[in-house]
Amino acid sequence: MTQDSTYISNTDASSTHTANTANSVSFLGLGAMGYQMAKHLVPQFATVMVWNRDPSKARAHASQFGSKAVSLAEAVTADIIISCLPTSAIVAEIIAQALPHLQNSKSPSPRVWVDCTSGVPDSAKAAKRTLQPVNCQFLDAPVSGQTTGAEAGTLTLMVGGDSQALADARVAIDCFAGRVVHVGDTGAGFAVKAVNNTLFAINAWGAAEGLSVLKAHGVNPSAALDCINNASGQSFASAATLPQRIVNRSFPKTFTIDLMAKDCAIAIDLQRQQQVPTPVMAQVASLIRAASNQHAAGTADFSQFATFYEQMTGIVIKDD
Ligand code: NDP
Repeated sequence: MTQDSTYISNTDASSTHTANTANSVSFLGLGAMGYQMAKHLVPQFATVMVWNRDPSKARAHASQFGSKAVSLAEAVTADIIISCLPTSAIVAEIIAQALPHLQNSKSPSPRVWVDCTSGVPDSAKAAKRTLQPVNCQFLDAPVSGQTTGAEAGTLTLMVGGDSQALADARVAIDCFAGRVVHVGDTGAGFAVKAVNNTLFAINAWGAAEGLSVLKAHGVNPSAALDCINNASGQSFASAATLPQRIVNRSFPKTFTIDLMAKDCAIAIDLQRQQQVPTPVMAQVASLIRAASNQHAAGTADFSQFATFYEQMTGIVIKDD
């Protein structure tokens, strides 16, 4: 990874787009994030190809937003291919399936594969090596902003890889991004995302601990948050996750806890690779893994870490 980083910001993500006929685009993986991200491409491109493992979701997307449901073989003929899948291992499987089709439809100008998955830096480097011989560049471009940011098209993207490939892909990326930051070479985007989510987990776990102590002393969590969110203990977790998911006991399933556990594990692998002691990150990553293990994959929101913690304390983080 390089030390220098180029800051690129899209200040007007909502600007009116005119249809782009020079590039074709496809989106692979219409999950909680991808389904919403892909819809923002439709006003910008003459054709937006969408592929999903369960093809009924791609057909639903086509009828709801005017995209075109296609096979994987057809999707990877696009100039810009965007993926948003659960893990790097799944992306590697999809790339392996796509490779013969990329080879057959090798284009004279380089394609760009923009992977918006929250993935593993070493897997980004492997994907880059795999795709290079078929004249396809790879960018790791994970996103932050939750499903609400995907819906609004205001996501923050942290991008690793070649700057020309990023410039080529921005016509698509800008459709769903509010901010795009080129953080370094291949893998750097995934690294920043893993650390970001681990910091989020640390803040959320810490806020749950603090509110539990206060509740034990007779203070309602909402009253405490009203102070903390206007004081120095504030974080995104205290401002959004605690009041909107935990204290109100809604735990809406928009970002599953197994995906959060995966992100923390990636950060811990990075720490281990460079032998950087990170006792707090390691502890919280382990707690999130333990909380995630209480649920089958894909069945519980990240905020359910709080119900796991409540079993330790016997204190429910809600108002009396
Ligand atoms: P979801 O679980 O909602 O969606 C997963 C998607 O991947 C679905 O389209 C699913 O297809 C597909 N999929 C799952 N397994 C396979 C497989 N083996 N082969 C092919 N396709 C597969 O995930 P999200 O949209 O929540 O997350 C996607 C990525 O974005 C993750 O890396 C996550 O960490 C990251 N992220 C998520 C955020 C959130 O708030 N949800 C926020 C920021 C980043 P099918 O419909 O067939 O099951």
